[in-house]
Amino acid sequence: MSDALPAPRVVREDGLPSRVTVFEVGPRDGLQAETDIIPAPIKAQLCRRLYAAGSRDVEVTSFVPPTWIPQLADAEQVVGALEVPDGARAVALVPNLRGLQRAVDAGIREVSVVVSATESFAAANLNTSRAGAIDRAVEVIEAATAQGIPVRGYVSMAFGDPWEGAVGYDAVTTAAVALHEAGARTIALSDTIGVATPGHTAAIIEEAFEAGIPVEGVALHLHDTYGQSLANVHAALQLGVAEFDASVGGLGRCPYAKGATGNLATEDLVWMLHGLGIETGLDLEALAATTVWLSRLRNVRPASNVARAFAAAGLDAIEPVQEVTTA
Ligand code: MG
Repeated sequence: MSDALPAPRVVREDGLPSRVTVFEVGPRDGLQAETDIIPAPIKAQLCRRLYAAGSRDVEVTSFVPPTWIPQLADAEQVVGALEVPDGARAVALVPNLRGLQRAVDAGIREVSVVVSATESFAAANLNTSRAGAIDRAVEVIEAATAQGIPVRGYVSMAFGDPWEGAVGYDAVTTAAVALHEAGARTIALSDTIGVATPGHTAAIIEEAFEAGIPVEGVALHLHDTYGQSLANVHAALQLGVAEFDASVGGLGRCPYAKGATGNLATEDLVWMLHGLGIETGLDLEALAATTVWLSRLRNVRPASNVARAFAAAGLDAIEPVQEVTTA
């Protein structure tokens, strides 16, 4: 490892969590929304690199029908090629009971489900109504729980909707509480189009608390469309939230929201958390190296600030994490 690369100066702030779970969504939420299709062996290698960089919480793929999301049509192949370290999670998104069965058959032991705070997104992305999506998710949670499989929930469009505009807090808490009461362990309040600001973020989290969801059951899923995602993370940290979704290299956009940029980049989030003295277990250099590696393979510019800064500062000096060839 190069010791020439920059690192944030650590200055702690009172009242923030001492450790945060960075829930890595790059291989699923990131790659499903990019236009190019990455071969399964590269996806498996991406997951391997993430685990090697210290990620213990990775959403590896999605068992949706291949016609819905061609980018992730190879879920079985990817999961079959994974090497998950002891104590690490390999979570797969499932849209319904059929998807749950496919995931379990492939060896997945933890799943996630998505509901929508708005009717428009439920119709466009989940092919159902808002209530229909909740019913379907609850069905999956109950079936998974009966098999000892933990479930994570997403409430999409919790902060704004490209068709409907503002989203009522009640719609968000109704969906979140339904998932929580069905047994989902964590609910990711999701700013799918990246419109949230810190006050808005704090207000929705407070609403979730008031609706009975404990702080350890709340996560945030943010996009950086308007450059607000780290400010929003900071607002959530001040309320004790200690789980944040992020995507290595800022992979992903929202295909239903024109102009929405990628997910909050993992390495940008980790730079801030480490600067605040918050433990993540993640190796910033290895994350940035992963972003540069994948960007080169895809022939695109790295989308994260940290990866670009590290590349300019001599990241190339870093040894590749592990080059593994799979069939
Ligand atoms: Mg996202």
